[in-house]
Amino acid sequence: MIQLDDLNFSYGGRTVLRNISAAFSPGKLYAVLGPNGSGKTTLIRLLSRLLQPDSGSLTLDGKSYACYGRKEFARQLALLPQTRPIPAISVQDLVSHGRFPYLGLSRTPGKDDLDAVERAMAAVNVQAFAGRDLRQLSGGERQRVYLALLLAQDTRYVLLDEPTTYLDASAQFSVMENLKCMSQDGKCVIAVLHDLNLALSFADEICLLDQGRIAAFGAPEALVEQGVLDRVFSIRCRSVVVDGIKEYIIRPDGT
Ligand code: ADP
Repeated sequence: MIQLDDLNFSYGGRTVLRNISAAFSPGKLYAVLGPNGSGKTTLIRLLSRLLQPDSGSLTLDGKSYACYGRKEFARQLALLPQTRPIPAISVQDLVSHGRFPYLGLSRTPGKDDLDAVERAMAAVNVQAFAGRDLRQLSGGERQRVYLALLLAQDTRYVLLDEPTTYLDASAQFSVMENLKCMSQDGKCVIAVLHDLNLALSFADEICLLDQGRIAAFGAPEALVEQGVLDRVFSIRCRSVVVDGIKEYIIRPDGT
């Protein structure tokens, strides 16, 4: 479990996260939501140890973040950041980078590493373009390759900053379905999302940020019932059941 206790963070004296306490458990898909500038990316960067809090504590499986070595931490937690390079590299070679935290001094991948890369590519269905250059793929295909990279790293904690942005609807669903599978396989998946419908439909729990504070943390339906999404986003969000499936209707405030 990742546990945050009373975290505060500021950029150059300007506090952007305040009194953040929360816990993220394996086996669940969490969506981090909030208006622009509410602190989502900053939170993800703190969770992935790219930033250090001004005060408060972060623990992973009961051990303070500060007590993890670099490779040890990378075997526990993987991050897909918001901006990603698109280097001239084959799909297979990129996915193989996920094994770096496991390689010894010789940097030579063993059978376990090669198997992990194969499994990761199969899980998100990218074996068919294993030999292709990353730059030749569509946005949706490339995003699946980055998910394979995360899977090859074989961590229990997987963090993603806006993994569905710029993808078409079908590719967005494909990414969300892959994230759901990862969580059902026992991983703790934490994704910053912009699309409320995707978050409400797929997430087990939502961490809702507003002006640097946690405005709500809980199951999608509970947040909808509390009306807290309505307040934070100035919208009207209701759930309806269509053909036995719960769906969400989101309208502008006042309609
Ligand atoms: P979100 O991901 O919710 O849009 P961010 O975490 O990116 O929010 O930003 C939270 C606040 O911190 C914003 O007001 C933003 O302008 C500010 N901020 C983000 N990154 C930096 C930075 N590197 N230096 C100074 N301020 C920053």
